[in-house]
Amino acid sequence: MTLFENYSLTGLNTLGFEATAERFSRPKTLPQLIELLALADTNGWPVLLLGGGSNLILSAWVPGLVIQLANSGIECVAQQGEQVIIEVAAAQGWHSLVEYTLEQGWFGLENMALIPGTVGAAPIQNIGAYGAELKDCFVSLTAWDREQQQRVTLERSQCDFGYRWSRFKGEDAGRFVIWSVRFALSTTAAPELSYGGVADYLARQGINEPAPQQVFSAICDIRSSKLPDPATVGNAGSFFENPIIPQSQYGALKAKFPALVAFADQPGLYKLAAGWLIDQAGWKGYNAGSVGVYDKQALVLVNLGGGDREQLLTLAADIQQSVRDKFGVALQIEPRQYPA
Ligand SMILES: Cc1cc2nc3c(=O)[nH]c(=O)nc-3n(C[C@H](O)[C@H](O)[C@H](O)COP(=O)(O)OP(=O)(O)OC[C@H]3O[C@@H](n4cnc5c(N)ncnc54)[C@H](O)[C@@H]3O)c2cc1C
Repeated sequence: MTLFENYSLTGLNTLGFEATAERFSRPKTLPQLIELLALADTNGWPVLLLGGGSNLILSAWVPGLVIQLANSGIECVAQQGEQVIIEVAAAQGWHSLVEYTLEQGWFGLENMALIPGTVGAAPIQNIGAYGAELKDCFVSLTAWDREQQQRVTLERSQCDFGYRWSRFKGEDAGRFVIWSVRFALSTTAAPELSYGGVADYLARQGINEPAPQQVFSAICDIRSSKLPDPATVGNAGSFFENPIIPQSQYGALKAKFPALVAFADQPGLYKLAAGWLIDQAGWKGYNAGSVGVYDKQALVLVNLGGGDREQLLTLAADIQQSVRDKFGVALQIEPRQYPA
């Protein structure tokens, strides 16, 4: 296992920001990971766990140690009736896992096709798309607990999953290094089509009872038409979370803006489409020089070339201010800024 110094992270973050890690290593085994973390603790180096870098806003200089796990494997650990339990290494790519499970005839992840990043990062914000969330198929994870200095298994009920949320983003941020994740999938398809125009898209192709592979293809097509490919245009996906507001505030906003796009959430709460708010505030396609707002989806901020964290956060602050002025709603930034 090599410990690199002054290692470039420019190709390792989907925003494509120029960034250099003071130190960088890719452990393949748990003992290697433990050794690296001990070294960091002894020397007082801050540690960043890096997956695919698709939900990170990096500064040009990343001090301390950046660890990118390099373990591998997808294993079927149990099968009973229609249920299949699989255990997946943290470094596994998320989308390739979705493809693999479909090929095996194991269903449940297809609505989350094309989400970039790794399996190990997926529980951090309970990734979700098109009416599905990681927690729906999640069984447990194994992690190295840096506080207790031991390997732990955490069940779903111990992870505090919520909308783009888990304990790993909250009070326990940085405490657990996720090493593997278990999912419960089904050999029987149960397509979820209620969200984001998937049913309409399929119906236009004459498909009313789609197979999971058709749902997967539809979601890939819809996402590709709306979201920029990070390989071409640097971005971190949705830049802001969809704000959740009380019913009373929703009622007042809906009266003032009848076209308001929102979805019922928990009882008494509504989730607003942040992209619609930003679009209505006039930002879609905005070009601030090196950074901007994607012209097909206002929720996505992009690196137009040579952009950096400061420029992006300045643009984000201007957007937040104008949405607050127009709608009285606060937008929260979704990707993690590192160093904080
Ligand atoms: C084009 C695009 C589309 C996207 N669409 C969606 C979407 O539909 N839904 C959605 O939810 N997200 C979406 N995202 C955001 C992103 O893909 C997810 O948040 C993804 O889970 C991040 O994975 P990653 O491996 O890139 O994590 P990174 O960005 O590398 O890291 C994210 C966080 O996880 C931590 N982390 C990474 N690995 C580990 C580990 N093994 N143990 C502990 N902590 C770890 C990091 O320290 C960091 O805090 C999108 C992003 C892009 C660029």
